[in-house]
Amino acid sequence: MAEERDGLSAEELFRRGKGLTYKDFLILPGYIDFTVNEVNLETRISRNIRIKAPVLSSPMDTVTESTMAIALALLGGLGVIHANLTIEDQAHQVELVKRYENGFITEPIVLSPHHRIQDVDEIKKKYGFSGIPITEDGTLNSKLVGIVTNRDIDFEKDRSKFLYEVMTTNLITAPKGISLQEANEILRKSKKGKLPIVDENGRLVALMSRTDLIKNKEFPLASKDEQKRLRVAAAVTTHPEDRERIEALVEKGVDMLVIDSAQGYSSFQINLLKEIKKKYPSVDVMAGNVVTTEQAEALIKAGADSLRIGMGPGSICITQDTMASGRSQATAVYYTAKIAAKYGVPVIADGGITNMGDITKALAIGGSAVMMGALLAGTNEAPGEYFYENGVRLKKYRGMASLEAMEAAAAARRYYSDEQKIKVAQGVSGAVIDRGSVFDFLPYLMQGVKHAFQDIGYKDIPSLHAALYNHTLRFEPRSLAAQMQGGVHSLYSYKKPIIGAD
Ligand code: GDP
Ligand code: 5GP
Repeated sequence: MAEERDGLSAEELFRRGKGLTYKDFLILPGYIDFTVNEVNLETRISRNIRIKAPVLSSPMDTVTESTMAIALALLGGLGVIHANLTIEDQAHQVELVKRYENGFITEPIVLSPHHRIQDVDEIKKKYGFSGIPITEDGTLNSKLVGIVTNRDIDFEKDRSKFLYEVMTTNLITAPKGISLQEANEILRKSKKGKLPIVDENGRLVALMSRTDLIKNKEFPLASKDEQKRLRVAAAVTTHPEDRERIEALVEKGVDMLVIDSAQGYSSFQINLLKEIKKKYPSVDVMAGNVVTTEQAEALIKAGADSLRIGMGPGSICITQDTMASGRSQATAVYYTAKIAAKYGVPVIADGGITNMGDITKALAIGGSAVMMGALLAGTNEAPGEYFYENGVRLKKYRGMASLEAMEAAAAARRYYSDEQKIKVAQGVSGAVIDRGSVFDFLPYLMQGVKHAFQDIGYKDIPSLHAALYNHTLRFEPRSLAAQMQGGVHSLYSYKKPIIGAD
């Protein structure tokens, strides 16, 4: 018997017969002999994919489309494109991420010489820019014939003039395949506002903007594949029609398929898993959702490269109340991670993350990364517009099993069988507060997690997991009163940080 240690091992913490959530326990502090900057949050999120920031965004229509996926991948995380889209639209979203090149606008808005100045005005009003390349037929990949910028049209009173009358035709362009650095150099020297990128036949393929030069940062943590393209995952369902969807996503280069199912322990999922692994052996598959060791082991045996854990902890979720089943999230993560670790399969703690402390806790009990919906839904990069309610800036956020989202799914997907005529919601629609840009928010969260790692005395996720399983990592459950004491209290008022005290 080892000497008696303070606190409990995870084994002891969770063997209590009662489901625990992140709020129910704390990690006891460890010994600090390194700086925050030495903490490395690199992790493995599937058998073959490693990323540098342990965060995935939920495949939800108010959370992840290409803009979110691009931002997260640049910052070291991974976005999962939702499946409430037609096959073509979802495949296109994946393509936008895979084709993204930092600094290049790969889908610029283009007009033809026969458009009028007022069309540029419309674009300016809608999107805020007025530097428009002009191609022969007004589409991308057509011959570039000119460019219209503010300087060509700002003094022009007659807004019905054709663009061929005002556009600049003496163009400086750069060839397709040029590096970001070289293109930046041309922009700098030419003193132009825009640099069209053309192929060998003079067809427009992309655009660069001078204003982006200043913003162009390097992203050392970016999640990239072997060909240096950003990584992206996409959700699919077990519905038979989704075989076609899977093929389209794989064709566009999706890095991982996520089988999206509230209760993933089913013959449908097991069959689909086997089928995908046989047909596309090089594409990783995240299976789920599961919460018990039996469920987890079955999906791993069917070929899962990663597991998504959670049934009911989501902020918009009413599964546990409506379906009477599920599991408290911390308990679910601990038990599934433990069994999955035996097979070398990482688990992703999905749902119920309310602040950065929860992220550290999810990692400390065996999770390899977290998946977040609510926290990311309020950022600029999530789909949808901000709106105000009682003076508070908000964004819409809804469960994918809310009635609203199910209707959107039915509209996007051609099928919907009779048995689903009476729909029982397992989620709600609501709103979340503005969290600014993911480019500020995620680094903030990650810095917080690094501080937490320092406090508990671990420099990286593998050493944290090793300590979890050899029982050197110590925990303690918290009483309700302790939880209250752990939050802000005894103040008349206080200023909330971006996150951490909600
Ligand atoms: P402009 O001079 O009026 O075109 O506007 P700026 O160059 O000041 O700003 C344009 C911003 O919008 C840059 O950050 C671009 O990267 C971004 N942008 C995104 N899509 C497009 C597009 O299709 N065309 C243009 N011109 N800019 C775009
Ligand atoms: P959050 O980060 O908001 O707490 O949780 C997001 C997670 O909730 C998603 O990744 C997904 O697993 C789950 N989820 C999304 N929509 C629904 C829904 O309508 N019902 C249920 N039960 N869970 C949902």
